[in-house]
Amino acid sequence: MSTIFQKIIGREIPADIIHEDEVCISIMDIEPQAPFHALIIPKKLIARVSLADETDQQILGHLLLTARKVAQDHNLEQGFRIIINNGNDGGETVPHLHVHLLGGRKLSWPPG
Ligand code: 5GP
Repeated sequence: MSTIFQKIIGREIPADIIHEDEVCISIMDIEPQAPFHALIIPKKLIARVSLADETDQQILGHLLLTARKVAQDHNLEQGFRIIINNGNDGGETVPHLHVHLLGGRKLSWPPG
């Protein structure tokens, strides 16, 4: 069975796609937690960071560099936050690795 993000990558369900390359896709989150909230998602199905391995090193680095590019493209020069939720306690709800990129307001710390 496909994850919701595989369906978005395969254009089976719509999303606001703001970046795509051979490794990943970036979409606007459907339930934004900040004025700007995007997700950066690898095309390869890696369930979560804790299930990634050494062969995924390039993909993992690519996701962060893409988050930086998306932040630049969307004028988040005041700052932004990158989050990866991992597993149940980490707040993960979609078992397909994704990087959250949040910005557009002053974000509080610590997270809940
Ligand atoms: P997680 O809780 O797993 O870290 O994050 C999953 C994120 O995916 C949530 O922020 C949620 O709003 C977002 N999301 C879930 N389903 C969809 C969808 O169908 N489209 C989009 N654009 N975002 C989704």
